[in-house]
Amino acid sequence: MSETAQSVWNSCLAFIKDNITPQAYKTWFEPIQAVKLSDKALSIQVPSKFFYEWLEEHYVKLLKVSLNRVLGDQAKLVYVIRMENTYGNKQPFTEKIPSTNRTNHGSQEVDVPIKNKNPELKNPFIIPGIRNVKIESQLNPSYNFDNFLEGDSNRLARSAGLAVANKPGETSFNPLLIFGGVGLGKTHLAHSIGIEIKDKYPEKTVLYISAEKFTQQYIESVKKNNRNDFIHFYQIIDVLIVDDIQLLSGKAGTQDVFFHIFNHLHQNRKQVILTSDKAPVDMQDIEQRLLSRFKWGLSAELQQPDNDTRVSIIKNKLYRDGVDMPEEIVEFLANNIKTNIRELEGAIISLIAHSSFNKKDITLELAKKIVDNYVKNTKREVSIDYIQKVVSEYFQMDVETLQSKTRKRHIVQARQLAMFFAKKFTKASLASIGSQIGKRDHATVLHACKTVDNLASTDKQFNKFVDDINKKLTL
Ligand code: ADP
Ligand code: MG
Repeated sequence: MSETAQSVWNSCLAFIKDNITPQAYKTWFEPIQAVKLSDKALSIQVPSKFFYEWLEEHYVKLLKVSLNRVLGDQAKLVYVIRMENTYGNKQPFTEKIPSTNRTNHGSQEVDVPIKNKNPELKNPFIIPGIRNVKIESQLNPSYNFDNFLEGDSNRLARSAGLAVANKPGETSFNPLLIFGGVGLGKTHLAHSIGIEIKDKYPEKTVLYISAEKFTQQYIESVKKNNRNDFIHFYQIIDVLIVDDIQLLSGKAGTQDVFFHIFNHLHQNRKQVILTSDKAPVDMQDIEQRLLSRFKWGLSAELQQPDNDTRVSIIKNKLYRDGVDMPEEIVEFLANNIKTNIRELEGAIISLIAHSSFNKKDITLELAKKIVDNYVKNTKREVSIDYIQKVVSEYFQMDVETLQSKTRKRHIVQARQLAMFFAKKFTKASLASIGSQIGKRDHATVLHACKTVDNLASTDKQFNKFVDDINKKLTL
């Protein structure tokens, strides 16, 4: 069977995949398309020049080895950089550049886009003197790198952010897309990058804007018939930060205008920084051409912080607020609020407030109360099934035994405890609890609850059962 560009590239990919991390593979190799095979030269198409530079800088050896394995020593690699034209021409423009000019690896040729003869392409909407207009960055100085604590969960995103801040528009991370769940630091990190750039390059025009506000401005501009001024305003920015880009979903007009702004900025090597609560693959109702651009640079995820990071975030916050809190309570907070740093901070603030308004010490008791307010809704709902499972495990029996009709004392007690906790932890009615725990009636459940109350206050051993199970259920 004769080899095709695709089959050769597939063999290369199989080898490459084995030799790099899945994340790197996804970021740098999945977007590549094999386009041509002539003699021993394989042409691969990459989505941007930055992409090509990144491959050259980091993966040239790997590419070479993989290609040599498939095509032998004579193998050559040709990059085709495909960028759609922003200015309305349908044809992608490419130009061959002699390999020696571009790279020190003699075996490669490169196709790169023709530079516009006149890079400051005449824009009919240029407003004379607009360069002198000062644009407020809208950055929040309290979101900076100094107080954005580093941990495993954010290391990639944080260091990519720093790299971008050091050389805006000149790294491969363009756009830099920061994504992750709510309250994990996307907005904070986005501001940090902007602040750092302003610090290093005061002459650069940096603008932070939420996608929501961007959309409003756009709609306003259409109403006022100055859409072009709107576009032009954004095109003169050096570093554009758009927060919560997922909010553009379903908004075709805004997406279209953003597409043009993005292309202009990118082609002029201006930095674009985006945040989103989803990875690009999971974004819905966003045009394909826009999605593909989001993937041109680097998508870096902010994950849920691990325990150590949570502890240091808490301590840092306490330190900045000048508050002392027992280690035990710090641990408790870090252990109980895991998925959202904003909630973690909220709990600390409310704990401090409670203790100072009520002139009470910050105790574990108080911390528990407050954490309940924060995580009740997000915490896994304790179900009657779960209660039966926990109780029967505690007494080393199975759920059927717990539900059975037997009168054996220890089984009856287990069943009564399950009923008691079902009443305590769920909103279910007595009748519904009874029917789920061995098909009993509401009077049986009521009796069980009273018995448990009584026994717990008279029988030490029994009281321990109650405490132990309670702990297991509230963990
Ligand atoms: P998102 O935009 O992802 O919803 P934010 O950036 O608003 O989240 O962050 C929520 C809160 O958590 C902010 O007050 C922020 O300062 C704080 N935070 C997030 N990540 C960190 C971190 N790594 N170090 C310190 N504080 C953080
Ligand atoms: Mg945010």
